[in-house]
Amino acid sequence: MITCDCGFEAVGTEDDLVVIIQAHERDTHGLEISREEVLALASPVDPGGEG
Ligand SMILES: [Zn+2]
Repeated sequence: MITCDCGFEAVGTEDDLVVIIQAHERDTHGLEISREEVLALASPVDPGGEG
């Protein structure tokens, strides 16, 4: 899952996120970002973890 600074959230597979975020950044922020930059924004979901 990726949350943009503007609050936009994208959920999906790694490939999905790259496409979604690249389109969002271009359409909403006028930015062209690379796949690596997209993945750098991604937050891995922590398994389990109470509290
Ligand atoms: Zn955004």
